[in-house]
Amino acid sequence: MTVEYERRGPVAVVTMNRPEYRNAQNSAMTYALDAAFTRAVDDPVIKVIVLAGAGKHFSAGHDIGTPERDVDVSFERKAVLWWDHVGAEGGDQRFARESEVYLGMCRRWREIPKPTIASVQGACIAGALMLAWVCDMIVASDDAFFADPVVRMGIPGVEYFAHPWVLGPRAAKEVLFTGERFTAQQAKEWGMLNRVVPRADLETETMALAEKIAVMPRMGLALAKKAVNQAEDLMGLRSGMDSVFGLHHFAHAHNAEMSGGDSLGGQDARSMRDARS
Ligand code: ZN
Repeated sequence: MTVEYERRGPVAVVTMNRPEYRNAQNSAMTYALDAAFTRAVDDPVIKVIVLAGAGKHFSAGHDIGTPERDVDVSFERKAVLWWDHVGAEGGDQRFARESEVYLGMCRRWREIPKPTIASVQGACIAGALMLAWVCDMIVASDDAFFADPVVRMGIPGVEYFAHPWVLGPRAAKEVLFTGERFTAQQAKEWGMLNRVVPRADLETETMALAEKIAVMPRMGLALAKKAVNQAEDLMGLRSGMDSVFGLHHFAHAHNAEMSGGDSLGGQDARSMRDARS
């Protein structure tokens, strides 16, 4: 199973399960996550949802190079009402696909009416930041590290452009301009994380927080979540993200125009990894 679903009392634990590929997110995983979240929302016993990654790493981000990369596969669309990207070409294809599986899905999950907690260890890179950021809270282990290195591709950050809101503008610029990894402790100082705990305690600390929240009334939690999300949107999150999505797609299109159709500017999983060291 690409995504595991487990009920632990009032807590649903949704676990990305491609540890052999550092839980790289392909579309199969995206729709499996969506199905798991939907199940948790529909189950009246479930009060809180935990999102975790199996193995040493939370996630290496979007799948840009495993054998199960599935960018040309159609799935039943859930997030936006738009035509299928499969069969479309150029910017039409990219815009349709990323509107649905990246920006649209992340927004859909941000609005899950039950509290969500990301439980993060090891790598949380690029597209993985999107998964952590859409959760209401983030608990990270002290070995967790984060980065959004896509400026190396000439692209101004990942599709769900929450950087200035979750990091603050200066930290957002540092993260984007350097592309470097930052530690859990640094992320905590910037206000991106709720807790940093020893690796061995990550699961118990995440569950303890989830169980504390789970005693609160469902409706109160849902409305409190909506209230904070609405405040964030009034601080420009949603409209800011829409405007940056245009810049993001301009960058993909520029790359494709300059390098024979390659919207990633000549970069792949290997070159992105090698550029880091
Ligand atoms: Zn993109």
